[in-house]
Amino acid sequence: QKKEWAKLVNEPSVSKDGHHVELAANIGTPKDVEGVLNNGAEGVGLYRTEFLYMGRDELPNEDEQFESYKKVVENLDGKPVVIRTLDVGGDKELPYLDLPKEMNPFLGFRAIRLCLEQDDMFRVQLRALLRASAFGNLKIMFPMIATLDEFRQAKAMLEEEKQKLIDKNVEVSEKIEVGIMVEIPSTAVMAPQFAKEVDFFSIGTNDLIQYTMAADRMNEQVSYLYQPYNPAILRLVKMVIDASHAEGKWTGMCGEMAGDEVAIPLLLGLGLDEFSMSATSVLPARSQLRKISKEEAESVATKALELNTSEEVKQLVEKTFL
Ligand code: PEP
Ligand code: MG
Repeated sequence: QKKEWAKLVNEPSVSKDGHHVELAANIGTPKDVEGVLNNGAEGVGLYRTEFLYMGRDELPNEDEQFESYKKVVENLDGKPVVIRTLDVGGDKELPYLDLPKEMNPFLGFRAIRLCLEQDDMFRVQLRALLRASAFGNLKIMFPMIATLDEFRQAKAMLEEEKQKLIDKNVEVSEKIEVGIMVEIPSTAVMAPQFAKEVDFFSIGTNDLIQYTMAADRMNEQVSYLYQPYNPAILRLVKMVIDASHAEGKWTGMCGEMAGDEVAIPLLLGLGLDEFSMSATSVLPARSQLRKISKEEAESVATKALELNTSEEVKQLVEKTFL
């Protein structure tokens, strides 16, 4: 099987009936790029920048961040690189920020909420990203967006920093796509409104499932509620994809679900445009996709949306495709 996968490194990611999707990889540091390229990923769908901020005593400065982002986009050589702005809080702590202890860290002061409030820190990262955009195909993504207002504020800060750089004759790409992660149910429900203003969506199922099912993703005792195939999740995913397509935008997925063999046929059928996963899952996913027809995946996904339980969905997919 490994040999069969290795042959697909330079092959396109197409379904049996010729529908193309993008298979991208998730990374945490510039070192991970080697794995991305060796596994034939068509881009980076999620660069988790928080690792740059972790395991140290102070914030990384603008040049340090710029060098990391630049290295990744340069090595990807024109392939898309979606860089997510700082997503700390929840399970990822930064001791030097000295934030108050919270009763519910996953529902608290994290990610974009923290960045919009501590905007001096946020603007440093935005400038580093804008400067790096001149060196490749860089896209910017904001995490944990719950309201349109948050997106508008973040985008406005980005535009302000961009204008300041342009005024100083610093080179910045003219066509940076700016998107959001969909990991909060309110945002999935409001996807038609968001789709008019964002350039793309990336569905973060690790959190979207946790928040939809009200089940802590780290808590073993409620892990039975962590159900990627629950029709509730599939319906939210469909709402997001349909909303983006209605506005001519694209939707990716960068949670674990994107590389899951039961989920892949469903996501293909729902019309997902980009699948971002750990680099080692890319070739198995490509091999699987090439054996599935999009038309059949569509009819299975349509049935799955009408089923009652996660287990029923899983059985339907296994019976049809696995
Ligand atoms: C997600 O929530 O699905 C996601 C990709 O982000 P993280 O796992 O970093 O929270
Ligand atoms: Mg998340």
